[in-house]
Amino acid sequence: MYNNYQAFLQKELDQIKEAGLYKNERILVGPQGAEIKISTGQTVLNFCANNYLGLSNNKVLIDAAKKALDSHGYGMSSVRFICGTSDIHKTLEKKIAEFFGTDDTILYAACFDANGGVFEPLFGEEDAIISDSLNHASIIDGVRLCKAVRYRYENADMADLEKQLQLAQAQRFRVIVTDGVFSMDGNVAPLDKIVVLAEKYNALIMVDESHSAGVVGKTGRGVTEEFNCRGKVDIFTGTLGKAFGGAIGGFTTGRQEIIDMLRQRSRPYLFSNSIPPAVAAAGIAMVDMMNTTSELQDKLHSNVKYFGEKMQKAGFDCKPTQSAIIAVMLYDAKLSQEFASKLLEEGIYVIGFYFPVVAKGKARIRVQLSAAHEVEHLDKCLAAFTKVGKELGVIK
Ligand SMILES: *Cc1c(COP(=O)(O)O)cnc(C)c1O
Repeated sequence: MYNNYQAFLQKELDQIKEAGLYKNERILVGPQGAEIKISTGQTVLNFCANNYLGLSNNKVLIDAAKKALDSHGYGMSSVRFICGTSDIHKTLEKKIAEFFGTDDTILYAACFDANGGVFEPLFGEEDAIISDSLNHASIIDGVRLCKAVRYRYENADMADLEKQLQLAQAQRFRVIVTDGVFSMDGNVAPLDKIVVLAEKYNALIMVDESHSAGVVGKTGRGVTEEFNCRGKVDIFTGTLGKAFGGAIGGFTTGRQEIIDMLRQRSRPYLFSNSIPPAVAAAGIAMVDMMNTTSELQDKLHSNVKYFGEKMQKAGFDCKPTQSAIIAVMLYDAKLSQEFASKLLEEGIYVIGFYFPVVAKGKARIRVQLSAAHEVEHLDKCLAAFTKVGKELGVIK
């Protein structure tokens, strides 16, 4: 039987390769950081990690994880509701709720699971989900698992959102769902305006803070800090896999009854293992750090400003950003790939994105900044961009 199937798969794989869409993975042979070693022997500057606060290899987090390995062991061998809940899990849930100003938190193995398990238990076929067109794949999948009526509005387009909200008056309950930061452009969801529309049309709000938590807002509290509307969002989802340490784990945090219901009915929570105690303990250390100082946010914000201004001055066409993501627009798909590989030769690791990841004719290089970057790292990256940009005729 496998022979036929193998031939079928091989043909599909060949087609992916022919279309130039085959993903090859680079192999790191050391910790994640501003400088990374790859298996080719090259050391490069990393500008494509979600390591926004530089915590992926942070000593305080590593020490907290090591201590928990000694005190609480390696694994929980259980889902939460059987015997997979430790004091560390409960403490982390409480700390995340305090961080976002919410009532309670529920942990998942990943934010993919948080989004996969948030809609189906909360909304039924009488209800409406109104989702931004650029929302993350895990939100799209989560919505698919739910019977609610679906509405979609153009990215951050408030006139379109209003239109969809009017249509959704036909349903019982409505929830507006948006990413906090959209990962391809670096723009922030206009939460101040979303709050106004939600009040006018009687809708709940859910924000996925995966790219915004720890990053957006003066102290990294995310989009509600940026727009001064804490307390107005009913549901947040987020990840421990980006700014918050970069390991693994996700969460939903929000109103008490919502979290209570998810603990009873959310399938990825009920039928998937607890995160390891070491990861939860490092998460606690991370929140404690954020509560003591916003030094890392300050450094990240100043890096973004420095890099963005110098790129603009060099003549690059960068999308306006309110996050740690800077999209350097090149428009042409082939050019974006050539540009990225030339940058790698210069020791700068970035990724070029093109259709279908972004719209046709909107190819770009995405630069992700980090508090782990020093000014000399940024200067090296800027010099490489300028050199390659001139070589390829992108700038004069
Ligand atoms: C990265 C990301 C996720 C997935 O997070 P994991 O914890 O890695 O599963 C979900 N939503 C958004 C918006 C993301 O950017």
